[in-house]
Amino acid sequence: METKIILPDREIPKKWYNIMADMPNLPAPPLHPATKQPVGPDDLSAIFPMALIEQEVTQERWIEIPEEVLKIYTLWRPSPMFRAHRLEEALGTPAKIYYKYEGVSPAGSHKPNTSVPQAYYNKQAGVKRIATETGAGQWGSAMALAGSLFGIDVTVYMVKVSYNQKPYRRIAMETWGATVHASPTDLTNAGRKILDEDPDNPGSLGIAISEAVEDAATHDDTNYALGSVLNHVLLHQTVIGLEAKKQMEMVGDYPDVVVGCCGGGSNLAGLSFPFLQDKINGKELRVIAVEPASCPTLTKGEFRYDFGDTAGLTPLLMMYTLGHDFVPPGIHAGGLRYHADAPLVCQLYHDGLMEAKAYPQTAVFKAAVLFAKSEGIIPAPESSHAIKGAIDEALRCKEEGKEETILFNLSGHGYLDLQAYADYLEGKLVDYEYPEEKIKEALSRLPQV
Ligand SMILES: *Cc1c(COP(=O)(O)O)cnc(C)c1O
Repeated sequence: METKIILPDREIPKKWYNIMADMPNLPAPPLHPATKQPVGPDDLSAIFPMALIEQEVTQERWIEIPEEVLKIYTLWRPSPMFRAHRLEEALGTPAKIYYKYEGVSPAGSHKPNTSVPQAYYNKQAGVKRIATETGAGQWGSAMALAGSLFGIDVTVYMVKVSYNQKPYRRIAMETWGATVHASPTDLTNAGRKILDEDPDNPGSLGIAISEAVEDAATHDDTNYALGSVLNHVLLHQTVIGLEAKKQMEMVGDYPDVVVGCCGGGSNLAGLSFPFLQDKINGKELRVIAVEPASCPTLTKGEFRYDFGDTAGLTPLLMMYTLGHDFVPPGIHAGGLRYHADAPLVCQLYHDGLMEAKAYPQTAVFKAAVLFAKSEGIIPAPESSHAIKGAIDEALRCKEEGKEETILFNLSGHGYLDLQAYADYLEGKLVDYEYPEEKIKEALSRLPQV
């Protein structure tokens, strides 16, 4: 009865899996924000290298991972899979619970799986600097790390509430050589406009994206990089699920339920897409996306075209959205505060290939603490949504007397999020369900297509 299921370095996947080759309906095309016509490669080449634009649209099933990326992946991949024996015992469930642990990367989350190839392709294209945004700080950390590995400068626009709540994330980014600004800043038109209207604006991921995109679009040597949502990002993350499949095989098991937290959808996609390929081909399997009740994109949003950012600079994407100017409450799972989700995840959810659940943050932290006490690792607040989802499935199995296999993604550790735990332990966290009224209001401001 293994606890750790470990693959040797040589088993790192050599190709990423592209679900666009297999999904029943492709996502609707991105539209140009002004003309509302489908965007072409030229519209994107101001801020992305051509290799990534190609990955954004290709329907090839398998995409070769470059040798230099594989070499860097070996610093932490293959990541371990654990059987959560002690959590199962604590729950008294007949279910088998497994988790894939992405907190072993140098940045402490799954995000370097894509920041590394993104830095690589930008370097190949001769780009000198990358401008990007970060919410909780994990993406900024991952990009700063990748920039340092490939010798590219990195400028990070960090959502102001997180900048103030999480100084250690900023210090990590600066240690890897990045420059970090609290967003909204007075360095961009988008930032200045927001500050004029509200000098105390706490920032949001949408605003920070506007600033980073503007920075990249107005500097020739600078490109933009996104840590979630886009097809190429989800593609890169499939190394998680491809490894997980081999690891499950090693112990002669296969999941009945795959669970991931969903902020933009990249870690959920990374773990679940290789399994969804089997589901599309007839295998029985459930995939559950777990989101915060305070930012209930899939469970309460609408499936429509919306901007990826607040200022309306990005192409329009077909997504479940709460409205691009939605500013979610400052909950601790900062990485799950995005107003929409990846078009690929949204389309699969729309087509019934995924389910979604939303939980309030106190229930999530209760699950996180139970996990920490039984399995040891203190999980990231984001990942704890997946833990809560997995625990609920395990308790359902207990009720129904079923011995199902549950696999979830522990997308990162929480050792730089301890303030969130302090607040929870002191009873300071409140639950915040986003009022339907406000969602309707934000949705009324969606672009007409
Ligand atoms: C960023 C982040 C998330 C949310 O992003 P996805 O694209 O939905 O994966 C989840 N967990 C951790 C640890 C993160 O850093």
